[in-house]
Amino acid sequence: MYYPAPIAKLIESYMRLPGIGAKTAARLAFFTLDMREEDVNDFAKALISVKRDLHFCAICGNIAESETCTICQDTSRDKSQVLVVEEPKDVISMEKMREYKGQYHVLHGVISPMDGTGPDDINITSLIQRLHNDEIKEVIIATNATTEGEATAMYLSKLIKPAGIKVTRLAHGLSVGSDIEYADEITLLKAVEGRREM
Ligand SMILES: [Zn+2]
Repeated sequence: MYYPAPIAKLIESYMRLPGIGAKTAARLAFFTLDMREEDVNDFAKALISVKRDLHFCAICGNIAESETCTICQDTSRDKSQVLVVEEPKDVISMEKMREYKGQYHVLHGVISPMDGTGPDDINITSLIQRLHNDEIKEVIIATNATTEGEATAMYLSKLIKPAGIKVTRLAHGLSVGSDIEYADEITLLKAVEGRREM
């Protein structure tokens, strides 16, 4: 089907988003064409800003508006616990629970031999560097309950335990294959409270 170049380009861009097929992308592109210019400008600015104004925290890898994130900057938080998650959105899920007061570490992925992702491809080196700081007494591994999430948890446990640091894994409530992102607050709270030592 023939589309004018600007529309074709926009369709192509929308199709790069998760869950958006060709049909939906075309619908969104034509919807954009009908939008008020002011709204389209705001939309474009928001897209650019999310890349330009946000960084990954130099300490934990979470989303940050400056060199470090607000959680790492917060001196009232417990420095003895580090909770390891796959993605920045998992930090938001855990924070919504309002119970966990320790630190985080964001891996930005999981070890997945099938996808060619090895330990060096995710944010593990900086986690090990953080552990040299003797304030950390426990690492809570909160990767998802998927095959890759479990394999990553096992890998981290073997790496960290020889340093004499307690390693725990989220337990009850999270069913196999489930994502932290979709768990409700009560389930997450139970998962943290019921964590087991690895
Ligand atoms: Zn941070």
